Amino acid sequence: MTAPSLHLAGVVLPEGEHRDVWVRDGRFTFEPVPGAETVARDGWLLPGLVDAHCHIGLGLGGVHVPDLPGLREQALTDRAAGVLAVRDCGSPVDTRMLDDEPDLPRIIRAGRHLAAPRRYIPELAIELEPEQLADEVRVQARRGDGWVKLVGDWIDRGVGDLAPEWPADAVAAAIAAAHEEGARVTAHTFGTDALPALIGAGIDCIEHGTGLTEELIGEMAARGTAVVPTLVNVAHFPQFAAAGEKRFPTYASTMRRLHASAGAVVRAAHDAGVPVFAGTDAGGGIAHGLIGDEIRALHEAGLPAEAALGAASWTARAWLGLSCIEEGAPADVVVYDADPRAGLDVLARPVRMVLRGRVVA
Ligand SMILES: [Zn+2]
Repeated sequence: MTAPSLHLAGVVLPEGEHRDVWVRDGRFTFEPVPGAETVARDGWLLPGLVDAHCHIGLGLGGVHVPDLPGLREQALTDRAAGVLAVRDCGSPVDTRMLDDEPDLPRIIRAGRHLAAPRRYIPELAIELEPEQLADEVRVQARRGDGWVKLVGDWIDRGVGDLAPEWPADAVAAAIAAAHEEGARVTAHTFGTDALPALIGAGIDCIEHGTGLTEELIGEMAARGTAVVPTLVNVAHFPQFAAAGEKRFPTYASTMRRLHASAGAVVRAAHDAGVPVFAGTDAGGGIAHGLIGDEIRALHEAGLPAEAALGAASWTARAWLGLSCIEEGAPADVVVYDADPRAGLDVLARPVRMVLRGRVVA
């Protein structure tokens, strides 16, 4: 069944020009379509928001959500915030059934988290010895949508602090294997020590990245390595510190230090030219639907409003291979009644959303 043709008028971002845009057969066109229904007038038209670090299938408290109604609810909560695409940064649940649901955000998957034995949240990751990592990376690369997710560091209970999960040679073999399979690689890191091997081996992105130093930021900028800071998650570091304080006081002080410097790290990365993208880390400990909070947090850390907005829209879309408001592109657009560049609070109130060429809100 073909959807009715649509007409939208407004300021098209990021270009900032007032235009008339039509939607025919699910795609944008700037050629007038006779008989199209006008669904937006005099708004601001933003390429659908992207949550670049999200976990669909993980509920609060680490509960796995395997059934369609539960998965739909998470995806619809993200969509209500204007998110029309997510990069799923690792899920223990097979969410392929959602690809048949045309009203849900597009999902770009990274397969399962890959972690060293007993060095991550129980039952979330596939746990592997270093010599098994590259082979499993190939499996996940074939299962995912162009991404593989490594856990780069986590608390080492023997050390009592954050520590790398993998030796450098295992990391290098894993990243090379993913690239051979045509997949990009990202890694969870909170601390600093895991980063030199990951960045030096040509990893494509770092998640959280609170331990980035000026030197590592310079290397990322030179290589084009991205970072997804997940500041709405980092805001919880003091709680992680308090929970670990008694048994792991060194870890607790590390987490407090990383929390204190997180905003400055994001600012330094952006200023150095490292691509910074907006991701909430929804699922597990963070509620879905918080992309507006993450965009505001990036702005408060020092990104100009337009850069913070682009980090969750046009810049992120280009990075993930999604098009924007262009002739012939799939019609995914969020409409606001005020200019989000002038005030990010308007992001909480999309007045219209079109996804795959259909009005969904
Ligand atoms: Zn995550």
